[in-house]
Amino acid sequence: MKTFDYLRPADAREAVAALAAHPEARLLSGGTNLVDLMKLGVERPELVVDVNRVDFGGIEAQPDGGLLIGAGVRNSELAADLLVRTRYPVVARALLSAASGQLRNMASTGGNLLQRTRCTYFMDTTKPCNKREPGTGCPAHAGLSRELGILGVSDACIATHPGDFAVALAALDAEIRFETSDGPGSLPIEEFYRLPGEHPERDTTLPAGAVITGVRIPGLPYGAVSTYRKARDRRSYAFGLATVAAAIDVEDGRVRDVRIALGGVAHKPWRARRAEELLIGGAAMREQFERAAAAELAQATPTEQNAFKVGLAERLIVGVLTELTELRDETEPPESTDTTAPTGPTTGDDA
Ligand SMILES: Cc1cc2nc3c(=O)[nH]c(=O)nc-3n(C[C@H](O)[C@H](O)[C@H](O)COP(=O)(O)OP(=O)(O)OC[C@H]3O[C@@H](n4cnc5c(N)ncnc54)[C@H](O)[C@@H]3O)c2cc1C
Repeated sequence: MKTFDYLRPADAREAVAALAAHPEARLLSGGTNLVDLMKLGVERPELVVDVNRVDFGGIEAQPDGGLLIGAGVRNSELAADLLVRTRYPVVARALLSAASGQLRNMASTGGNLLQRTRCTYFMDTTKPCNKREPGTGCPAHAGLSRELGILGVSDACIATHPGDFAVALAALDAEIRFETSDGPGSLPIEEFYRLPGEHPERDTTLPAGAVITGVRIPGLPYGAVSTYRKARDRRSYAFGLATVAAAIDVEDGRVRDVRIALGGVAHKPWRARRAEELLIGGAAMREQFERAAAAELAQATPTEQNAFKVGLAERLIVGVLTELTELRDETEPPESTDTTAPTGPTTGDDA
């Protein structure tokens, strides 16, 4: 690994000042992604700015029924939080489906959002990759693409955002908060992540030199009727091939509102707006779910190797909506004090 300088600022402003003085510096939180990439030579920072002593705050209930989550909150702590489990089971389930217990103990809210793609070519410095080295090409189109994107891809890149947490946040219209040398700022998650276009080297629209300070999830009255499902090659400790985060509000057998986001299929968590539009106002029944899922995935442009993801994502959408509507029929969303498990189906958790 290349040698680097190390700084441990006391607060976010000091971290921002360090990034402004050293544009090639990298922030270190849990280090579970950054350190791996440094070992591979994908990241080669001159300076590592360790934000583990910065107090970004904890998990706070908001007046609108939402939550504010500090950037330093660990994934394990967030998944175990009673407010998260009762208000947004989709968030707890997405977090628990990721990595392993040890990794989740280290992984932070801020670092999780900025984890880099797991595309083979990005992680192998002997191969060309437009995301790692702009202008060198994308061998994935004609190469190994089984795990890669099917929606919103470009000639320059078919990498996917590999995370689970961000997919749940996309379904919930979360907002990413940050600090810059010009002061604090925020971005809706749908604008925070971007499609590759001709600039796959940029994963997000986070301003250069910004430090993520937290995530705000707005209140969602039917947030308790939400879940996350992840299809992967192993039952645990594997990234998603296709994943779905969903929440649904059904009244008198009709869909009053619905939120669907897909993971593992695009450069960003993919909000399934087309499916949502088709579902709202219609009957909450399987045939409608199938129609909406097919309409969403009709936009897909897969490779030969990852064409299976189209049907997989469709089936995941239908399965999750069916389970949530059955759950809704059986029980009203809990106001509850359940401390043992998030509501929703049990598939997809790390074992
Ligand atoms: C074996 C393995 C399996 C995994 N499986 C999964 C999985 O199934 N699903 C999943 O979602 N994830 C998975 N992960 C990824 C894991 O979730 C991430 O590595 C972790 O969430 C990153 O958080 P961190 O705090 O360790 O980030 P770090 O590694 O510290 O940082 C990651 C990036 O974020 C930046 N950063 C950190 N904090 C801030 C901040 N406050 N403001 C701005 N930038 C910041 C860093 O500079 C760096 O670029 C896996 C990881 C491993 C190693």
